[in-house]
Amino acid sequence: MEIFLNNLIEKSKSAIESANKIVITAHLNPDGDALGSSLALYNTLKETKECKVLLPNNIPDTFKWMPGCNEILIWGEETTQILQDADLIFILDYNNASRVDKMQKLLEESKAKKIMIDHHPNPQTELCDVVFSNPEAAATCELMYFFLKKCGLKISEDAATCIYTGLVTDTGCFQFNCTGQQTFQVASELATYKFDRSEVIHHIYDSYSEGRMRLEGYVLSNKMVVFPEYQTAYISLTMAEAEKFDYKVGDTEGFVNLPLSIENVKFSAFFMERDGLIRCSFRSKGDFKVNTIAEKHFNGGGHDNAAGGKSYKPLDEVVKRFVNLLPKVTKKLQKK
Ligand code: 5GP
Ligand code: MN
Repeated sequence: MEIFLNNLIEKSKSAIESANKIVITAHLNPDGDALGSSLALYNTLKETKECKVLLPNNIPDTFKWMPGCNEILIWGEETTQILQDADLIFILDYNNASRVDKMQKLLEESKAKKIMIDHHPNPQTELCDVVFSNPEAAATCELMYFFLKKCGLKISEDAATCIYTGLVTDTGCFQFNCTGQQTFQVASELATYKFDRSEVIHHIYDSYSEGRMRLEGYVLSNKMVVFPEYQTAYISLTMAEAEKFDYKVGDTEGFVNLPLSIENVKFSAFFMERDGLIRCSFRSKGDFKVNTIAEKHFNGGGHDNAAGGKSYKPLDEVVKRFVNLLPKVTKKLQKK
């Protein structure tokens, strides 16, 4: 599917050219793809434009090495003006204004031109002047690569590093189903750049604290519940438990994937107390869709095989609700 139509690229180019103040935004709890796409664009535009990356909340330590990361602004009262003054806003790696949390109202009220580049289904198109949306893309970084090229912008080593980071993290090192021909095309073109690809992997996957590593051991031994009859498993975690392991934001990244390494587990969930609510993460293998479950029962959404949501109920209630749903929602996974 060709999403980079000439007229939309021309519109984007002239929006960039005429903009005086560009603000790049990405979703709450930014991951490698949100940061990668934001910083790839930032590193490209900052040479010629007044440009800032503004995110709703903190960056996990794992990604603090990324080029340009030190210059990222985190939302607070003092950054309100920056969003209000912007005349061009990029919406990267999210499809709906609700995904930027406290920045939502300002974003919706802003008179700035808005360009969305994203790979989540059902984009909120009415929010934006230009939408580049392709749910078949493995990562927003995949789309960012084509966007920069089509706009005739030169991709620097730094920008290439950021794009590669998003590809690696959203595809689980090119292992998930979402990894497609275009993902490998971008990766292969990035291989012509001089940045150290193994260093990127090393930064992301070999940078755990001792606490994080032990927390993983704890959740696997003590907190993982498996339902072989539903080919499902879940892990739940309270903040008090996490804090025993010197918890830092980002430490539980990837925990939701762990049960999928068990043979015959096709659906996994992770529930955690965080920021005064319960964050829910869902993953699946094959054609079992988790975004519909997230949408219908957990106030969220996402991709077919990776989705999330939230609840304001206590953790044990959320877990109970999930377990009670299993006989109904896992019909496709139940062995006859
Ligand atoms: P994660 O489990 O890594 O937090 O989220 C996985 C995917 O689920 C994200 O890439 C995003 O597409 C989606 N997602 C996570 N949380 C929410 C949410 O609260 N609302 C919606 N609509 N999607 C979410
Ligand atoms: Mn993404």
